Amino acid sequence: MTDQPVRGSLGVLKTDRDPRVCLLPKETKRLVAELKWNVLIQEDLGESLGISDAEYREAGATITSKEDILKNADVIISIDHTYGGEDIRPGVHFIGIFNPLFYRDRLEIYKNRALTVTSLDLLPRNTLAQSMDVLSSMASLAGYRAVIKAANLFNGILPMFTTAAGTITPAKTLILGAGVAGLQAIATARRLGAVVEAFDVRSAAGEEVRSLGASFIEVEGHTESQSAGGYAVEQSEEYQRKQKELIHKHISSADIVISTANIPGRKAPVLIENRSVDAMKPGSVIIDLAAEQGGNCTLSRNNETIYHQGITIVGNSNLAAEIPSAASKLLSNNFFSFMKHMAKAKENDPLIEGSRIMTDGVFTHPRFTEPQNN
Ligand code: NAD
Repeated sequence: MTDQPVRGSLGVLKTDRDPRVCLLPKETKRLVAELKWNVLIQEDLGESLGISDAEYREAGATITSKEDILKNADVIISIDHTYGGEDIRPGVHFIGIFNPLFYRDRLEIYKNRALTVTSLDLLPRNTLAQSMDVLSSMASLAGYRAVIKAANLFNGILPMFTTAAGTITPAKTLILGAGVAGLQAIATARRLGAVVEAFDVRSAAGEEVRSLGASFIEVEGHTESQSAGGYAVEQSEEYQRKQKELIHKHISSADIVISTANIPGRKAPVLIENRSVDAMKPGSVIIDLAAEQGGNCTLSRNNETIYHQGITIVGNSNLAAEIPSAASKLLSNNFFSFMKHMAKAKENDPLIEGSRIMTDGVFTHPRFTEPQNN
């Protein structure tokens, strides 16, 4: 068990911009004992979660400084997609969640530093990759959190209340985009007693929406592509016009709108226009989970909460970070599963190749070597 040589040093840097932690003591212990990594943890890594350095030490890690990690780690794992990697030394394997299709500029830094870069958000969305799927883990929590946040900000209640003083009708909640986040938002809003409607360009989402007890808004004439791997593709102008009118009608009467619509690597589609926000009742709430990619709502601003004529509009694509304990548990498992897979992967492994952007500064991923497919 212990006579295998150490695989190398794996470092985890602390990030002040995000309370989530991508490696918890439980998975640290497994990386050390099962996968034979020498794990270097930056001091106070778990501070935001109340996890002490001693717990990491007990798990077999070495607690050290950022400088030491940058100097000695062969692999660095990170969840901070705003960190440029400027001070990582050439040749290091940098594994994280970089949203590289959207933040392409940063890839130049990695290239110039001759890094090997793996972005877990590029993993193929298949059964084999499920345990490493950071997008699903975070989207699921964000969908839940969006409803809790909206319920808190809304000036009414979600369920129907029948009291001696009268009846309060349930809140009407509209979910735009019924992917992982949208479906979790539907389930959460239903559990809280809201009346829920949802819309998605993928017709396959209709069945899932209805199975969760929500009604599905359908627009005729949508386009789907087999080659898009289950993701949405851009729609025709005619479809977009019809969609705009129907969505406008539904937004106008909604108390809560949670928008999650995204197309990987592209600006998020605009689904909530100014006129639709103006038509909503004062006290209503919009949570725009696509804010980082430009937003589904024309008025939303990334990482800001604004008030527009009595409507609260939250622009936040990282709501999972507001529940860092749950988010870190899932992330730590996702990262560990990937490291475990990497340890036994053979050459040309689809998950390793599908998530690796470059090797020693040379682009290897088709999304970056073949611009016409982007
Ligand atoms: P996403 O975050 O890229 O987008 C969220 C949703 O927005 C999607 O459902 C998309 O269809 C929708 N959308 C895009 N443009 C829209 C528009 N103009 N109007 C309305 N809705 C729009 O997607 P996601 O949540 O990451 O999921 C993408 C797909 O991957 C889904 O089909 C999902 O079921 C699938 N998936 C598969 C697995 C697996 O293990 N097999 C895991 C996770 C997700």
